[in-house]
Formats: sequence, structure tokens, C-alpha cells
Amino acid sequence: MAAARLSHRMGRLLEKAPALGPRTRVYSTSPAFAEVLRLPQKQLTKVVYPLRELGQHLAADSGPGLIEQRLFDPSLEDIGRAESIFEATARNRIEYLSSAVRLDHAPSLQQPEVCFIGRSNVGKSSLIKALFSLAPDVEVRISKKPGHTKKMNFFKVGKHFTLVDMPGYGYRAPEDFVDMVETYLKERNNLKRTFLLVDSVVGITKLDNIAIEMCEEFALPYVMILTKIDKSSKGYLLKQVLQIQKFVNTQTQGCFPQLFPISAVTNSGVHLLKCFIADITGSLK
Ligand code: GDP
Repeated sequence: MAAARLSHRMGRLLEKAPALGPRTRVYSTSPAFAEVLRLPQKQLTKVVYPLRELGQHLAADSGPGLIEQRLFDPSLEDIGRAESIFEATARNRIEYLSSAVRLDHAPSLQQPEVCFIGRSNVGKSSLIKALFSLAPDVEVRISKKPGHTKKMNFFKVGKHFTLVDMPGYGYRAPEDFVDMVETYLKERNNLKRTFLLVDSVVGITKLDNIAIEMCEEFALPYVMILTKIDKSSKGYLLKQVLQIQKFVNTQTQGCFPQLFPISAVTNSGVHLLKCFIADITGSLK
């Protein structure tokens, strides 16, 4: 599990992922993930490793495996272990902690923190809700209207880490963005990783570019998540993924060179993302 902890600046390593082995082992995991493990192989790959599944549709002559770079390629067993970190139990309390409009109102915590940023309507609340699907008492608001999240919302995931839902930027939220997001990103000491959400249907927008520039300027390690992958045809999604991957490879320094495509509707990519978060916060030790 050390792959993600390798410095994201180590270069664009090309790693061949091992083929999924026979699924005869019994993993200690949540019943929900056990159900995923029972899926036929093709469907399982689509749900657990969407990028790998997409890569299979690349024509052999379309370049040296642009989206085949798999820096983070955990086994199903590791993914199953990470599931339990996101599962609320008496010993692993997952709860909403507090909200803050300014950084000095944020809870003072020692444990590692990850934050989620993105323009309004990108699917941030839906993704966080999907991450917390095994913690049904955690309430994550999902907006009907864009721009409702005006505060930073802090969630505690056991003794492992905190997860912060940042105010969506864009529509009617420029002040929030400057006052909260920028200050938070710049000054939050325990921030381990920033997850920047981009709508896979729309691609990288001007607003996303502002956030990207900010992450780059502050030399933050950040990760790009592509949301709503269930909305497009495979061909369109592939085109978008290749375009965004190219952007990441050529225009960024601090962005983790592997994209995380997800769907909050089909849950595709969500398990892998949980495992990545668990890994970078040291929760799998
Ligand atoms: P936020 O403003 O970034 O928190 O965005 P929301 O999570 O509220 O989502 C905005 C809209 O996109 C809502 O209508 C969601 O139902 C929809 N949405 C979010 N994620 C997905 C997804 O993965 N697939 C699809 N098809 N729709 C999604």
C-alpha cells in the first residue's frame, strides 16, 4: 500500500497492474463490498477499477497507454480492508463534527485531514454521501439548487482522519471561495490531500482552472476526481478522460498523475477512492 505514499512528484511511473486473480479468498469486509466481490468479473472491474475498464477500450494504436498509468492499484483485499474504515460501528464512530465559515472556527485536530473542493453542482455532496454510505447516521446535505454549501463541514472518521466538505465555488459563491477555501488550503496544517472534483461530462472549466492554479501555487498535493461517469457514453468518457489526463501530465506539478473517475449513482470508483484516502491518511496500518 505504499504506492500512493510515494511522492506524487516522483514522475510518471508506468506500472503494469496485476490481472485480477481468482476470487476464491474470503475477505474480511463489509457485506456491501462482499456483494461487489460476487459480481461477474467484467462488472466487478467496472465498479472497482473504472479506469482499468476504460483502458480496455483504448485502441491498441492510441499511444503508449496514457490512462494505463496505475500508481495506485490496490488489491481487492486492501480495498475490502479500507471499507471497514468507512463503516460506522461502536468502535469506529463516523460523525459530523462541526461547520465553520472561517478557518479559526475550524475544529483544532491532530489527525490527518482530507478535503473535497469543486464548483457547485459538480457532485461533491453526492460523492461524500456515497463515501459515507456505511455510516447512515451521517447527514450530508445534497442540494437541489447550486451553491447551497456555504460552510466548511467537518466529518470525523473514527480515530483515522477528518474529511472536509468545502463550500462549492462558482455560482453565487465567490466570497466563500476566496475567504474560506484559499485560507484553508494555505494554512491548514494537518491537511494531507486535497481532492478536486471535475465534472467528467463538462471537462475542466475556467473555475476549475482557478482552483487548479491555487493548488499549484500553494504546492499542495492534490488529486483529480472525475464525477458523474455514468452520464456519458463510453466513447465520450474515454475522450474526456484522455484529454484531462493529458492536461494533468503536461500542465500540473502537484496533481497526482492518476485520475479517479467515479459515479455516485452506480458507486463505480468509490471503493477505490476510499482505499486511496485510507492509504494516504495512514489508516490501513
Ligand atoms: P454539489 O453541489 O457539488 O454538492 O453537487 P450535488 O452532489 O448536489 O450534485 C449535483 C447534481 O448532480 C444533483 O442533481 C445530483 O443528483 C447529480 N449527481 C451527482 N453525482 C452524480 C453522479 O455520479 N451521476 C449522476 N448521473 N448524477 C449525479
